[in-house]
Amino acid sequence: MALPSGLATSFPAESVPADTAAASDPDTLIMVENGAGAGPFVLLCDHASNRVADAYQPFGFAADQLGLHIAWDPGALGVARLLSGRLDAPLFWPDISRLVIDCNRPLDAASLIAVESEGRAVPANVGLSGTERARRIERVHAPYHDAIDACLTQRHASGLATILIAIHSFTPVYLGKARPWHVGIVFDEDARMANALIKGLAADPGFMVGVNEPYSPADLVYYSVSRHARTHRLPAAMIEIRNNEIGDEAGQKIWADRLAEILLAATPGLLGAQQAVVRCLQVE
Ligand SMILES: [Zn+2]
Repeated sequence: MALPSGLATSFPAESVPADTAAASDPDTLIMVENGAGAGPFVLLCDHASNRVADAYQPFGFAADQLGLHIAWDPGALGVARLLSGRLDAPLFWPDISRLVIDCNRPLDAASLIAVESEGRAVPANVGLSGTERARRIERVHAPYHDAIDACLTQRHASGLATILIAIHSFTPVYLGKARPWHVGIVFDEDARMANALIKGLAADPGFMVGVNEPYSPADLVYYSVSRHARTHRLPAAMIEIRNNEIGDEAGQKIWADRLAEILLAATPGLLGAQQAVVRCLQVE
């Protein structure tokens, strides 16, 4: 797959730890795993990392904030990687904290480069120059979305049907209020993929499934999926897992297994049986 220059090249999911790949080239901020994966899904993990690359250290992002969910989506990358293996799916993620720049926000959103998040000031972003804002867009936001777009264009040219899925996590308690949902499915007017996910997850009476809860496209959280799914006319959905469900490898595996089963079962109905022949890799 042709990718914009400066990107990490593909490597098998889970075979190389992300920080190893990143450490080999500290300037690599856009990660592509299993880029040649030929299964029917492409995965995004917009908030995978809480890393602040060297170039952004001087801004003084507070170490205590980088450990919080305002900086990243804990557990999401683990689930996304397991899914990438099981579904033979390309996986895209920016190896940089959303506090530096949020790849899942439109360029005109105030939360693109947040000066406040969940009631906490982010002094590192206060008074940022226009030049610095443009640099972050150019170095992180633009190449991330260009890489996804190149992959989807290439897959279309190759006759590979695609369903786009984004993996996120949310905090169990937000502004002092406990959230009852174990998982939330976010979607817009194209509910094809979301309906299958909601139905599959709700089949377990032990789960509370949020339907565009705790977030919905009105919160601007659907930017990445919407941008690429609309451009390429793809079935799509965003999956938000409550982060205490996926705080360790065991939880991540349970959720990856659960989601892979539902996603694969939904594939023939969404793409047609002929295109739904997938190579389902067992990754243990
Ligand atoms: Zn997120």
